Amino acid sequence: MAIEAAGRLYVVATPIGNLGDLSVRAREILLSVSLIAAEDTRHTGVLLKAHGVQTPQMSLHDHNEHDRAGDIIERLRQGASVALVSDAGTPAISDPGFELVRAVAAAGFEVVAIPGPCAAIAALSIGALPTDRFCFEGFLPARGAARRKRLQSLATEARTLVLYEAPHRLREALQDCAAVFGGERSATVAREITKMHEMTYRGPLRELLSRAAADADFSRGEIVLLIAGAPQTPADEDRGADGHGGALDRVLKILLAELPLKQAASLAARIIEARDNEAYKRALVLKQESASQS
Ligand code: SAM
Repeated sequence: MAIEAAGRLYVVATPIGNLGDLSVRAREILLSVSLIAAEDTRHTGVLLKAHGVQTPQMSLHDHNEHDRAGDIIERLRQGASVALVSDAGTPAISDPGFELVRAVAAAGFEVVAIPGPCAAIAALSIGALPTDRFCFEGFLPARGAARRKRLQSLATEARTLVLYEAPHRLREALQDCAAVFGGERSATVAREITKMHEMTYRGPLRELLSRAAADADFSRGEIVLLIAGAPQTPADEDRGADGHGGALDRVLKILLAELPLKQAASLAARIIEARDNEAYKRALVLKQESASQS
């Protein structure tokens, strides 16, 4: 059995559906701490009962997190250890916890992750969309105009987008995504991960949208929506690190060998018709690179 260390806050991930997904270590920590701070004590009670954990609970949710942080820090000061859980998955990920973690860390106590399920990561792992770089956006705004504005701000995002969506808003969200990103953009709807009616749909946004319109089950339950990043135009790739296909770097390297940085940057900008501040920033980078190599 893991022995809890006094005066620590453990941030414990819990299942996102299948109660069997509580890790051995998570259970040990929940058994050994003095108190479990839970988003909804009744909800967490079901999980604790299933795993034979009888540790007392305290509620900690969006509306009392600030006040509870003070209580919890006082307990840590007295040498107790506390576990934080949310209703499902990893606390502080579109769930309460961030404020508590920040306050506990600022008070000088150790905060320890007990990692485990997270719907965003589970969906990415099966989504069949690029996972090397992704951008977690949590829940989109509920209202149409605000949602479209947020999506527009993401229209050129090259990384895979990860969104949490309420079932009754999925169709509208897909509609807006198709309007802003184009119907051909690849996407994945991962529904009810680890649960009985688990289903994953992959395809262009227009196809997912017609499916949402035709099949009521499509929008039932808990949902993660993944959207492929914006395709990068060849022009973007050609621009290279200096934004000028390497021409700015070539000219700067020659001039930097002969002239002070500011003068080299200003001349290079004139020669290749770049902006002054762009050439200046690039000159700084090159200078730092050459200093670190010598
Ligand atoms: N902290 C959680 C985590 O680590 O994933 C997220 C909590 S957030 C309040 C709840 C949202 O997560 C749901 O509305 C849904 O978008 C997503 N979600 C949670 N469980 C899920 C599941 N089993 N399948 C698909 N999405 C899920």
